[in-house]
Amino acid sequence: MDFDTPLAEAWVRAIAAAVEEEQGRLTELDSAIGDGDHGSNLQRGFSAALAALDGLRPAGPGAVLTKVGSTLISKVGGASGPLYGKAFRAIGAALPDPALPDPAALPDPVGPVGPVGPVGPAAVAEALAAGLDAVRALGKAAPGDKTIVDAYTPAVAAFRAAAAAGAALPEAAAAAADAADQGARDTVPLQARKGRASYLGERSIGHQDPGATSTALLFRALADVTAS
Ligand code: ADP
Ligand code: MG
Repeated sequence: MDFDTPLAEAWVRAIAAAVEEEQGRLTELDSAIGDGDHGSNLQRGFSAALAALDGLRPAGPGAVLTKVGSTLISKVGGASGPLYGKAFRAIGAALPDPALPDPAALPDPVGPVGPVGPVGPAAVAEALAAGLDAVRALGKAAPGDKTIVDAYTPAVAAFRAAAAAGAALPEAAAAAADAADQGARDTVPLQARKGRASYLGERSIGHQDPGATSTALLFRALADVTAS
């Protein structure tokens, strides 16, 4: 299995569905240590992303995810919009787009069009890692600061390790999703050092971070769509 355009689109649809389903929980978590808008931020962002993909003729999976990123940046306020937006743009830019489109079939081409070649687990691992780098470059959070980074970092490590060990995409994605879940749960005892929750100081301790929780949803969605 390669990470192709239909898979990229299926991932975005699965994320949108998961965010819709878990919106209440994300809102609850963000109400405890933030301003209660994380669920609605992501719901608005990913439904806009779905709409943006509608009728798009992407050059490949990279173009799909780049479009998602740009949409999140333009439609979502708050910390998470730019952070996830930059992440998806970086993931998209790092993915080699395997199928160069026939220009005649593509009156309105959507870039970027990268090097040609099937996208396997190792390439996906590196693209996801580029997304994490983008989150860290923008948000300046380190592991342990109780943010998206705390779920994303172990997910990338698990994905990379699985890919290096020869795992196929579904296994690598499942390992990453499990690691992201664990990373999100591990934010409970942490004190927030970045974002709104950091204003609470020690009172942020004892709550699971909303952003780390939504990052775990993104990785679970990837595992689900690669498994089916
Ligand atoms: P806001 O905090 O602006 O209301 P959201 O509620 O949508 O935005 O997102 C909050 C989440 O964003 C937090 O739970 C945290 O995981 C994440 N976050 C905040 N600041 C940073 C940062 N600097 N780096 C990484 N993630 C961050
Ligand atoms: Mg918020």
